[in-house]
Amino acid sequence: MAPIHEGKSKWDDVPNPCLMVGPGYTLKTGEAPIHPLKPTEVRLQVKCTGICGSDIHLWKKGGIGDLVITEDLIIGHEASGQILEIGSQVSNTTLKVGDRVAIEPQVPCGSCYLCMNGNYNLCESVDFLGMPPTNGSIQRFLNLDSKFVHKLPEGVSYEEGALAEVVSVGYHGIEKAGGLPLGKPAMVAGCGPIGLATLLLADISGAYPIVATDVNAERLEFAKKLVPGVFTYQINPSLTTKENAAAIRKIFGETEYQMPSTVLECTGVASSINTCGYTVRRNGKLVIVGVSSSNEIDAFPFMPLSFGEVDVKFVNRYHDSWPPVLNLIQSGKLKKINEFITHKVKLEDAAQAPAIVFDPKTPSMKVFVVDEMELN
Ligand SMILES: [Zn+2]
Ligand SMILES: [Zn+2]
Repeated sequence: MAPIHEGKSKWDDVPNPCLMVGPGYTLKTGEAPIHPLKPTEVRLQVKCTGICGSDIHLWKKGGIGDLVITEDLIIGHEASGQILEIGSQVSNTTLKVGDRVAIEPQVPCGSCYLCMNGNYNLCESVDFLGMPPTNGSIQRFLNLDSKFVHKLPEGVSYEEGALAEVVSVGYHGIEKAGGLPLGKPAMVAGCGPIGLATLLLADISGAYPIVATDVNAERLEFAKKLVPGVFTYQINPSLTTKENAAAIRKIFGETEYQMPSTVLECTGVASSINTCGYTVRRNGKLVIVGVSSSNEIDAFPFMPLSFGEVDVKFVNRYHDSWPPVLNLIQSGKLKKINEFITHKVKLEDAAQAPAIVFDPKTPSMKVFVVDEMELN
């Protein structure tokens, strides 16, 4: 793509490298247009973006569900940056040029009943960064509605600000559970970045004991390093979901009372959801944080959940989570999220980042694309 900078801005002579996924499972770097600033927007220099599993899906599967890649799309949504310009009608007058901000990557319509009742994450006309047809954050310049930037507290890094997106998913899951009761057992299924962020939140919430599960032994080791008191269980794929659940329940204890009153499922994989369904305590809560690539799942343990009056809840992203998550990061309680960052790649070499995530020969947890250019 040739530079097609629109209108006049003081940044017109600065290149805007970007990373795109295109039709035919292609991944390429290019030069993105710099758009004129709308009155309610701020212009940001994106300082860093973490690569997400969903970015890999867009690239390798050509889309996610109904969102299909039909033209080149700039990917990226776990991001933070610095304010370069402020639109003439930005209502938040505390925002200043030079402010460091975390990016909440969803811009809902603001007027449907879901937006009006506070559930703006469920808005059906949301523009989500890096999901078709909305371009994402792996570029230098990004214009965003000013309501969806959140100032980074002092001492919080750009990388931590970007990780607020990942933590927000787990935060919303725990919020959906109504919080985790102090000293009561909980389970976290899946030790990818969202599962591990959820595990850290469960630990600082005071849940105990906590059992974390995964099929991958290295991920469980990582979980133990993050939360030394956690118990782990490696899912055995040759057992049934009920048999795996029985083995997990043994770790919690012998009586139904000792079973996890809250189970947070963070994979979206059918077998894991079903294992969680067999593990949760009667009258407990099963919160499904994970996202599936298929519309339906089989073998859901309907009758055990029904007989136990288990409260099954679902999570779709997040709302109103950046301020508390940034508070928690500033407090130091989530310092260990920095251990998620295993690789950093320069914006100009951004195509390497998803390749690192995809390549099993380079084990990674979170790969970041960073822009080192100083503009302010
Ligand atoms: Zn993500
Ligand atoms: Zn709406």
